[in-house]
Amino acid sequence: MTNALEIEDLVMHFGPVRAVDAVSLTIPRGGVTALVGESGSGKSTVGRCVVRLLKPTSGSVRIGGVDVTHLTRRQLRPHRSTVSIVFQDPAGSLDPRMLVGDVVAEPLRLSSARMSRAERQKRVAESLGQVGLRAEVARRYPHELSGGQRQRVSIARALISKPSLLIADEPISALDVSVQASVLNLLADLQRDIGFACLFITHNLSAVEYLADEIAVMYLGQLMEKGTRSQIFSSPAHPYTQALLAAAPVADPVRQRARTPVLLGDDLPSALDPPSGCRFRTRCPLAFDKCATDVPPHVKIGNGEAACHLVQADGTRPDVRAGVPE
Ligand code: SF4
Ligand code: MG
Repeated sequence: MTNALEIEDLVMHFGPVRAVDAVSLTIPRGGVTALVGESGSGKSTVGRCVVRLLKPTSGSVRIGGVDVTHLTRRQLRPHRSTVSIVFQDPAGSLDPRMLVGDVVAEPLRLSSARMSRAERQKRVAESLGQVGLRAEVARRYPHELSGGQRQRVSIARALISKPSLLIADEPISALDVSVQASVLNLLADLQRDIGFACLFITHNLSAVEYLADEIAVMYLGQLMEKGTRSQIFSSPAHPYTQALLAAAPVADPVRQRARTPVLLGDDLPSALDPPSGCRFRTRCPLAFDKCATDVPPHVKIGNGEAACHLVQADGTRPDVRAGVPE
């Protein structure tokens, strides 16, 4: 069976800025992969390359087995409905002059499928219903809705064309904390019921703890670690993943105690001039000579892989907590 998404050696440079460098990632049909990293790590750029808002510098993106990397706008048209994106800020991504019903119907109008007005309205009402909004909302303007309702409208628009892949780029980060959980639960329920594959982009590891099958951790344009959710949460191999987990708030007080916070300290270095060797080395508490000269290979461990000189194929892994002096 073909995969929902196959990204191979994806590179996206903006002039001298190396936003994404050789990222490879596969999502099976109906699978959920979280792409996690701090802001500036290049994860949104990956998402934008997948929906072809950006044309990659090199590498390839296949959606449902179709290579969309080099398709023109026109050639892309029949494939448009197979992938949708939900952005972080629903206020910015919804046209304020359009009625909600027209916003939600837009992908149907842009697709090549012919559809009557009545059929479109029916699909809009269905789509709004799926995200927990009443059909009357179609006759309102986005600004008349709350932030949470607006994000539900973006989700309805993204799903109306029945995509096999949804890119969710920080879909709850701009929302009030009070509604974040309900929108996250909505996405999780829709994913389970409809079965679309999802690339869930987030800086917040705890947001994906109950949603993702697999987790990919990105740092300065490169993947540091990939693995199943349980592998990443229970035995993270890469020092950066370990640091991210230590910094993430967890609900479980027992696990909270077991985690000594590891401060990531300085800001992310610039993607304009990323560190030589391992890109994480300027913030890694375990960095040693080789880290500055040699790019760490991706070592397979369990069902995943990690790129760190201290990770061995036999499962030996570094431990940031043990390595940081008091
Ligand atoms: Fe740290 Fe070196 Fe491993 Fe990079 S390769 S994560 S700098 S120990
Ligand atoms: Mg982003």
